[in-house]
Amino acid sequence: MAARENHLKNLWDDARAGSMTESEKLLYRSNLLGSDKRVTNFGGGNTSAKVMERDPLTGQMVEVLWVKGSGGDIGSMKMDGFSTLYMEKVEALRGLYRGVAHEDEMVGYLPHCTFNLNPRAASIDTPLHAYVPRKHVDHVHSDAIIALAASVNSKALTAEVFGDSIGWLPWKRPGFELGLWLNKLAVENPQMRGAVLESHGLFTWADDAKDCYLTTLEVINTAADWLAARSAGKPAFGGAARPTLDAGQRRDLAARLMPAIRGLISKDRHKVGHFDDSPEVLEFVGSAMLGTLAPMGTSCPDHFLRTKIAPLVVDFDPAKPDLEATLASLPAAVDAYRAGYAAYYDRCKHADSPALRDPNAVVYLVPGVGMITFAADKATARISAEFYVNAINVMRGASAVSTYQGLPEQEAFDIEYWLLEEAKLQRMPKPKALAGRVALVTGGAGGIGSATAERLLKDGACVMLADIDGAAAQDVAAGMARVYGADVVRAVAMNVTDEAQVAAAYATVAVEFGGVDILVSNAGIASSAPIEETTLALWNRNMDILSTGYFLVSRAAFRMLRAQGIGGSVIFVASKNGLAASPNAAAYCTAKAAEIHLARCLALEGAEAGIRVNVVNPDAVLRGSKIWSGEWLDQRASTYKTDKDGLEEMYRQRSLLKRSVLPEDIAEGVYFFASDLTAKSTGNILNVDAGNKEAFTR
Ligand code: NAD
Repeated sequence: MAARENHLKNLWDDARAGSMTESEKLLYRSNLLGSDKRVTNFGGGNTSAKVMERDPLTGQMVEVLWVKGSGGDIGSMKMDGFSTLYMEKVEALRGLYRGVAHEDEMVGYLPHCTFNLNPRAASIDTPLHAYVPRKHVDHVHSDAIIALAASVNSKALTAEVFGDSIGWLPWKRPGFELGLWLNKLAVENPQMRGAVLESHGLFTWADDAKDCYLTTLEVINTAADWLAARSAGKPAFGGAARPTLDAGQRRDLAARLMPAIRGLISKDRHKVGHFDDSPEVLEFVGSAMLGTLAPMGTSCPDHFLRTKIAPLVVDFDPAKPDLEATLASLPAAVDAYRAGYAAYYDRCKHADSPALRDPNAVVYLVPGVGMITFAADKATARISAEFYVNAINVMRGASAVSTYQGLPEQEAFDIEYWLLEEAKLQRMPKPKALAGRVALVTGGAGGIGSATAERLLKDGACVMLADIDGAAAQDVAAGMARVYGADVVRAVAMNVTDEAQVAAAYATVAVEFGGVDILVSNAGIASSAPIEETTLALWNRNMDILSTGYFLVSRAAFRMLRAQGIGGSVIFVASKNGLAASPNAAAYCTAKAAEIHLARCLALEGAEAGIRVNVVNPDAVLRGSKIWSGEWLDQRASTYKTDKDGLEEMYRQRSLLKRSVLPEDIAEGVYFFASDLTAKSTGNILNVDAGNKEAFTR
């Protein structure tokens, strides 16, 4: 646990805060608290302030509750993340309350309390803030506090650590009733500066924004110090019971396990994976207590909403590694988890519970190797992993000073299948067409490759850019990360002619995203020379990159797609020149023709596994293409006795539609074959060349 040097630091800047309004100070405090994962997990916790404001209707000063609204994260929220409510009306709700059996109906009254037509929906936690009789309230999910809160004797531990300055409340699902409990505690104990909520987290309060912030830090630091002192000298989780493999072995194993698991859990909806082998994770998965703690599930409601009630521990012994045996055991393990989850649902469901949701595990713990998480998108998979690391920290703290306890199964279920939670899920936007899909784009740093990557990202895919020019690919990926988020795009250096580099790039895509669904084989060059002047080296270079390279990347794709068993789409970016002969480019044209025929052969072989293989043929894509900035440009220009602009115009006029072809046009063709729009098409060729009679397929 955190020692003194790891103390949360006071980051409050009086000079900055001095000129802020009370609501601005609330935002400032929220962002400071949420920026440190030791204070609260992503999206976890909320903050509030009771502020005097002028009522736009009456012109009178009224007390307004500013409280983080539904959704969002205190670390990154902006002013529009707060809901605002008339305190007088929120107080009046107490008169409508019919008791705990009816507390959910109180959520429906909250919109009636809205101040200033604020469209941000008030969260379920609103009464928890409203009824604490102090101006400022923080609610956070600090690991150190939850370690106390998730210990079997959490009440006694809270008293031991904080005396009577911090109160304690037993587990209660957040809602109106818990708000009233907090009110009673604070009114009856005016000396209290906050409360630990069993199996949940921390509330702190004060009448000044900065005091509230400092109280939150101090309470967390005190808990962390106490835990550190109490656990000093004790091996975490009862000590190591299994060896930890070295980093390279861990990665290799994850690269094999992730596509296999992904295939088993993606039959209904594709999932994206995340791998974490941080020291905290390795300590836990190698420990003596893994077998007892993992099935107990997580404690804080936020944790298990993200990680499911419990993780799946993969049957793997790092002392006697046998990957094939583990792979063979996975289908039964995944089935058993699903059956266990369905049984939990049946045991706990109520007459009006929402239908059973995806019964697959989110968290997979592999002894000696690390933790794999899967979710509908990469950010959710990563955040689920972060949450499980929070849960590990909680279990480590609690089991060092006491006995850890998970939340009772029925309580966990009542949160997971809470009708209010279901309503939140129903409000989520529909996933994009390629959500959950992973694409590998070769030549991703180039004109057509980067336009294609962008098109796939736009529709929700995760993309790995693979290019012989690794630095250029990283640059392109960095630009895309700024637009689409850092979670969804990665880059790797890979020469398509090098078997080992191809294998390594697929291992990278497996570890980064869990597997692959779409291969865009696009890396290429162009060359021009009359046949008499075509050297063997030039001939071989074309064959190596364009034919052998396409073979190597698609063979590796087939292997991974078959390991997953959920189909896939392979798209070759070939060329009009693969269909139509062109002067002074025999090596290039022949290699491109080989690509097209390879695609047909693979379409035949892949069909029974649901792997579709199609071809997009560009022609004369001058803009954005690096091919058209080098020798090929000069050679083509000299063949046709013109310059770059002249060539572009010549190609435009040569096309039937008299239009220029752009990288985005090719990307659209690739997207068409990558998506389920063409779920029933394989072995096809799509010319994107503005029309060229020579290239008509027949
Ligand atoms: P580009 O030069 O802009 O991009 C090609 C990318 O492939 C580059 O980033 C390059 O670094 C990479 N690459 C080259 N050799 C590689 C190797 N051995 N391993 C991995 N990466 C390698 O060119 P572009 O116009 O985007 O071309 C993309 C594809 O489209 C090529 O296969 C090309 O033959 C085909 N094509 C292009 C046109 C056109 O007019 N631009 C026409 C027909 C076909």
